[in-house]
Amino acid sequence: MRALVYEGPGSIAWQEMPDPRIQKPTDAIVKMETTTICGTDLHILKGDVPTVQPGRILGHEGVGVVTEVGGAVTEVAVGDRVIVSCISACGKCGYCLEGMYSHCLADEGASGIGWILGHLIDGTQAEYVRVPFAETSLHKVPAGVVAEDAAMISDILPTGHEIGIRYGAVKPGDIVAVIGAGPVGLAAMTTAALYGPSRVIAIDVDANRVEQARRFGASDGVVSSAPDWKEQVLSLTDGLGVDVAIEAVGIPATWDMSLAIVRPGGHVANVGVHGKPVSFPLETAWIQNLTITTGLVNTNTSRMLIKLLAQGRLGVSGFISHRFALDDIMNAYDTFGRAVETKALKVILTA
Ligand code: NAD
Ligand code: ZN
Repeated sequence: MRALVYEGPGSIAWQEMPDPRIQKPTDAIVKMETTTICGTDLHILKGDVPTVQPGRILGHEGVGVVTEVGGAVTEVAVGDRVIVSCISACGKCGYCLEGMYSHCLADEGASGIGWILGHLIDGTQAEYVRVPFAETSLHKVPAGVVAEDAAMISDILPTGHEIGIRYGAVKPGDIVAVIGAGPVGLAAMTTAALYGPSRVIAIDVDANRVEQARRFGASDGVVSSAPDWKEQVLSLTDGLGVDVAIEAVGIPATWDMSLAIVRPGGHVANVGVHGKPVSFPLETAWIQNLTITTGLVNTNTSRMLIKLLAQGRLGVSGFISHRFALDDIMNAYDTFGRAVETKALKVILTA
């Protein structure tokens, strides 16, 4: 089969690889119909994620059709159209029983944090993928849901929902600010609507992204390069600050911004992956009674999100800005890697 292989920092190749085989009775093989490129793939390509070794097939999002299942798989059958979750988890270990799939303790032949596809196990940017623990890691695509929308369940919707909205404990009437209107920030905005906030403020350095955010549930927008960005946020909150500040960028400046706009007693939910250290003003957090949360997505709300998606209650259409054929993936990486220039939001590849 053809697959997108990481060769080391700065280098990837679309090349011939052996077809994946069933290795354990709990495995399934999925023929990919659509897959995507995620910001995390660009981090890997840069060499920011040293646990990803050369030779790894990248990708952790997508939809496909099951072509083979192991002897212990009964909930998923050959021919099922499925969403491939970004995290594969046994569903039975102590962490899985707590819903902490990203810390699954099952032995997959390597040691690391969770079985994220395209990280310590091969991923979805390929014609076929082997999915360990198929019963917990594959979800049937409901009738009437298009593949492009279903693929948003693999990673970005559960990430924005679990680590942004749920950890941020968004309640009816809350004023929520989401810093970063990329796919993850937009997923936080669209799932915030499920909890009845009174305002959702999209904050981004890119005015185009702030404008786009209104299509995904933002009621207000602030361009953070404006010198008075903080005053603009305060004026939307009667001068108090927001109830919940969600950081969905992953740089020190936006972490500082989240602390600068939260009200006393509020929540800061960090979603961004921070490659660099940030300052943590514990004294400020203490005197302001702040609750600060962070974490890796667990995908334990995916099934709930799929139901809402099927009912048309999650505004996801419009996430995809660029479409490519799967074997044109090198061009897709180039377009996605120059997102400011190309205005790429989420790119999708179809086999
Ligand atoms: P993205 O790069 O597509 O979007 C980031 C957005 O931040 C862009 O719109 C950009 O314009 C904006 N931005 C950049 N600098 C800014 C600044 N100084 N001020 C305001 N806005 C600024 O990223 P994404 O795919 O949406 O992911 C967002 C973050 O979430 C990343 O750090 C990613 O690694 C992380 N992530 C975390 C998890 C998790 O499990 N916690 C899972 C997936 C992704
Ligand atoms: Zn487990």
